Amino acid sequence: MIFWLFALGLAVGSFLNVISLRYKAGGHLFTADVLKGRSHCPYCQKTLRWFELVPLLSFAIQMGRCRHCRHSLTWQYPIVEVITASVFAFVPVYVQAAPIWIVAILVLILIALIDARLSVIPDQLNLFLLFLGFVFIGIKGFQNINAWSPHLIGLAAGLSFLGLIFVVSRGRAMGMGDVKMAAALGFLFAWPKIVPLLMTAFMLGGLWATIVLLSRKKTLKDAIPFGPFLALAGVLVVIWGDLVLRSFYGFL
Ligand SMILES: [Zn+2]
Repeated sequence: MIFWLFALGLAVGSFLNVISLRYKAGGHLFTADVLKGRSHCPYCQKTLRWFELVPLLSFAIQMGRCRHCRHSLTWQYPIVEVITASVFAFVPVYVQAAPIWIVAILVLILIALIDARLSVIPDQLNLFLLFLGFVFIGIKGFQNINAWSPHLIGLAAGLSFLGLIFVVSRGRAMGMGDVKMAAALGFLFAWPKIVPLLMTAFMLGGLWATIVLLSRKKTLKDAIPFGPFLALAGVLVVIWGDLVLRSFYGFL
């Protein structure tokens, strides 16, 4: 079972790679020119055959290079494939409501890849996170007011916290896409899980900014997209959130 889930995850991961690399800023995610068309080498434009598109294996056999022009290919391909496959194989083992959280993580991976490449978070993906929050409420019943409150408080928390940073920094520390994403994450993860999520995102982002500044690859003027850190924090909270909250409340 785990083997098949892992294999399915490899295929889905390879699909996420394609979408994230073909997406153009400001465009729609699920349009013909993003989803359709044969894959080709980004360097020599040669159309790839099926055996050059097998997740993980093709990259390994070709030693990370195009078969035709020998240009080295991005490590994003195998890394995203392995991460997605691990999500499919192991999230059902450790997490309740696994199908919903797996979809959520796929959206987060896509956001991280696109924001890292283009410094843009597509509204469609934030709306999708919001939609998954509605699914959780729906499970408990839409007429049940207690089902709504933690999600609405979570949304308010994400929106106000990142919104405040956006306003105070006049949009230099955060983009509007980050604010929308934090609100959507708050609605999906609900109160109180949005708190460790935001804390983790800021710690990871701060750590990364320090490393980048120390290595002098960028200066303070360069913007570092925040979406990937929100996404990574979200994945960590899916896996360890319950544990963290239990230990927090255990100590209090
Ligand atoms: Zn090539």
